[in-house]
Amino acid sequence: MSVTNKRAYNFNAGPSALPLEVLEKAQRELVDFNSSGMSIMEMSHRSKDYDAVHNDAIARLKKLYSIPENYEVLFLQGGASLQFTMIPMNFLSEGKKASYILTGSWSEKALKEAKLFGEPIEAASSKENKYRNIPALSDITFNNDDAYVHLTSNNTIYGTAWNNFPDTGDVPLIADMSSDILSKPVDVSKFGIIYAGAQKNLGPSGVTVVIIRKDLLEKANTNIPTMLKYTTHADSNSLYNTPPTFGIYMLGEVLKWVEDQGGVEAIEKRNVEKASLIYNVIDQSNGFYVGHATPDSRSLMNITFRISNEDLEKQFLAEAKEAGFVGLNGHRSVGGCRASTYNAVPVETCQALANFMIEFQKKHQ
Ligand SMILES: *Cc1c(COP(=O)(O)O)cnc(C)c1O
Repeated sequence: MSVTNKRAYNFNAGPSALPLEVLEKAQRELVDFNSSGMSIMEMSHRSKDYDAVHNDAIARLKKLYSIPENYEVLFLQGGASLQFTMIPMNFLSEGKKASYILTGSWSEKALKEAKLFGEPIEAASSKENKYRNIPALSDITFNNDDAYVHLTSNNTIYGTAWNNFPDTGDVPLIADMSSDILSKPVDVSKFGIIYAGAQKNLGPSGVTVVIIRKDLLEKANTNIPTMLKYTTHADSNSLYNTPPTFGIYMLGEVLKWVEDQGGVEAIEKRNVEKASLIYNVIDQSNGFYVGHATPDSRSLMNITFRISNEDLEKQFLAEAKEAGFVGLNGHRSVGGCRASTYNAVPVETCQALANFMIEFQKKHQ
């Protein structure tokens, strides 16, 4: 039986679509990895076979994302949510300040954790505008003695994203890139730390990627639990304890797939094409579909929109489900509709949704 004829039009926000080629390769290798007579899940994380997978994934990510020499790539657990805690735990202390830019629920959660360890400051916020936009760079205030400035590069729930990042000079810029890592080229050297849960653009849930500048490791607090110290994981090549081996294997395969697509530039081009298909329908609908994000802050990864008539919106979601579209309900906190068009979502899936939206409007306008 082929898997292909059962694939859904998957717009899930996370965990989300993975490349079919990767899933099929994992399936082929599932019970016998590299002629070992075992699954990758069944072997020691200290074995030669696993070690190659682990180091290959690190090397591939460094190359694909042009990560400079003075950064470490770590594979941690606990999701992006544990990074909300680990960052202030490692870099704040009583009386020490950091600036947080609020662009949605995830940045709010990150700020909440920082308050447990130091004195974070709201550097800017678009909350009053229902998080429809990213604050203008000129509206962001931070202090030169901040431990760091934190932002969320793509706001998964509201569907907004940063186009240009603030220049924070000597203050390390930290970004939660959970929902847009590897969706477009990024100048990693502008950041002190980039982190991302893998389950949107990189692989299955269970792995968190942390890209951290080496000098920050030296500045980190030492009187904190071993497992929550970045240095523990940097010093042991993310093998201090048992890492999520299957997730890291999958992540490596997703990275190979990105290479096969032509790398991050080619992926970005495809992401622009995919998002445009859907944004164009919204923009040409004469107000039938209403985008949540202001056009200059639109995300390539999460397209959020409403239908002004609420009954019709319910009907849209019901008919879309009937037609085989999955994951189009907006986040429970904001409602409406959301199409998550991560790297692995094919152009054809986005075209199918665009066509469905046009037809739905014709029928119900
Ligand atoms: C999904 C998401 C998170 C939460 O990630 P977990 O891995 O579930 O902790 C945090 N930040 C952003 C931007 C997200 O999209």
